[in-house]
Amino acid sequence: MNDCNNPLTGLEEWEEFLKQRYPEPETRSSAKTFEAANPEKKKEAFRNYETAARPSVREFYRLNHRYQTYEFGQGKRKEFLSLNRRQMGVWEALEYLNTLVDDSDPDTDLSQLDHLLQTAEQIRRDGQPRWFILAGLIHDLGKILCLYGEPQWAVVGDTFPVGCAWSERIVFHQFFEDNPDSRQAAYQTRLGVYGEHCGLDNVRMSWGHDEYLFHVVKDYLPPEALHMIRYHSFYPAHRDGEYTFLMNEQDREMFKWVRAFNPYDLYTKSHARPNLTELRPFYDELIREYFPASLRW
Ligand code: FE
Ligand code: FE
Repeated sequence: MNDCNNPLTGLEEWEEFLKQRYPEPETRSSAKTFEAANPEKKKEAFRNYETAARPSVREFYRLNHRYQTYEFGQGKRKEFLSLNRRQMGVWEALEYLNTLVDDSDPDTDLSQLDHLLQTAEQIRRDGQPRWFILAGLIHDLGKILCLYGEPQWAVVGDTFPVGCAWSERIVFHQFFEDNPDSRQAAYQTRLGVYGEHCGLDNVRMSWGHDEYLFHVVKDYLPPEALHMIRYHSFYPAHRDGEYTFLMNEQDREMFKWVRAFNPYDLYTKSHARPNLTELRPFYDELIREYFPASLRW
């Protein structure tokens, strides 16, 4: 899928970049933690991630920031959220997502299903609630948007609110200069089209796999799981603490779970492939506990 609209070799290239930018806290030396606490050093480190990014990652962010306008998201919601593309159960959707092949090396890279099972299994090992394990298992199912022919920059990428000013903390902020919304005065104030603490449910986010999956599963999971799914790529908020002025009391409560989920998503990739036959009965039962046999996608 490597063409001018899809600069990444695979979706993992974006995730690898996230890991460089947000290293696992426990593995940082105390010196590094000290550096991170110094705002000037922090800013410098932040720019360094951008300089060190691969050209493909840079190009990916350029496209994402250029084309993710308020109107673009509205159009995609209309196009996809009637959920009339497919009817399938959760396991069927996992298998469907797993047909997503990209140019990355199949011998060394994990499949989408491997990533989802590794995430869920670590959550399970830590004794988290069953809905948490289930959210881990399905959180990236929205990436089937790629199989509908959507470009990478409209499926993955750190998400951010549209219709108000972009946080300075969003990576490759300079690429927003080419976004037509930068010339819409109404979208360029701190609050933009929103009210102070209006709640994220009233905020339109840049379009991608998080938002799509949320709408597919919103009737079936507890609010904690839904927040984890809907905002797991909202790095400017859950890792950088931005946009709190748009959150209401419930969002602040739920974001504890979004933050609890992030390390499982980002740091549990290992080369040990999960054993499907062994794991399948547990997950079949877990899926049955929350979901009907078939869902609208
Ligand atoms: Fe994701
Ligand atoms: Fe993920």
